[in-house]
Amino acid sequence: MKILVAVKRVADYNVKVRAKSDNTGPDLANVKMAINPFCEIAVEEAVRMKENGIASEIIAVSVGPQSAQEQVRTALALGADRGILVQTDTDLEPLAIAKCFKAICDNEKPDMVLLGKQAIDGDNNQTGQMIAALTGWSQATFASEITIDGDAVTVIREVDAGLQTVKLKLPAVITADLRLNEPRYASLPNIMKAKKKTIDNTTPEELGVDTSPRVTLLKAAPPAERQAGVKVEDVAELIDKLKNEAKVIS
Ligand code: AMP
Repeated sequence: MKILVAVKRVADYNVKVRAKSDNTGPDLANVKMAINPFCEIAVEEAVRMKENGIASEIIAVSVGPQSAQEQVRTALALGADRGILVQTDTDLEPLAIAKCFKAICDNEKPDMVLLGKQAIDGDNNQTGQMIAALTGWSQATFASEITIDGDAVTVIREVDAGLQTVKLKLPAVITADLRLNEPRYASLPNIMKAKKKTIDNTTPEELGVDTSPRVTLLKAAPPAERQAGVKVEDVAELIDKLKNEAKVIS
């Protein structure tokens, strides 16, 4: 089984990202970048499938600037076999990214596309669903367990009310939720080995993808500053403040 796994370059989740002073977007100058955490989980799942003899080849795919090679390289160090970088300096919308994946699916004919459930920068939660729509393949989002049985795959999905189990036919698009697995760290020998693995470069234009935007970002603003707390002397004062200042009880 051949697996395409998506790796997006995003600001490291430990970084507190600020908005640009003119509110036109996040200020990413000199910010530490990393693989989107949900993509790390997708890579880990693909690598476990290879270790269990289910997957034969894992291709890590990123759509982004030349520097996104770093994240593809990290996926190679974690166990992917080769990489594809769809190079663009434009911050593409999920539809354009999904079209790039669709074109790669046409070329590579994978049995499964594994993605994160969302990218922690745009919080769109759209790309996997759009790839499924464009390819016509089955989809399971928010996966917390994946079991392969021949050309069928059973996925346990995390939904608001609990867990939902679905059975899909391959090829399928699956997006990883937080509890699917705990990703490993890349070992030094594997980081060295990854340097020899191939990363093919292409562009949305070469893939025949129309990247024209459909959405205009009007404003990016930081959340409101949290006000300092106050200490109360006793329960009576607390109740008084909840009633008369916060007005959350009557
Ligand atoms: P989103 O729909 O933007 O929340 O992203 C959902 C998932 O799609 C992410 O967790 C990634 O696995 C994948 N994805 C989104 N954008 C990219 C990108 N530029 N390159 C590679 N994978 C991406």
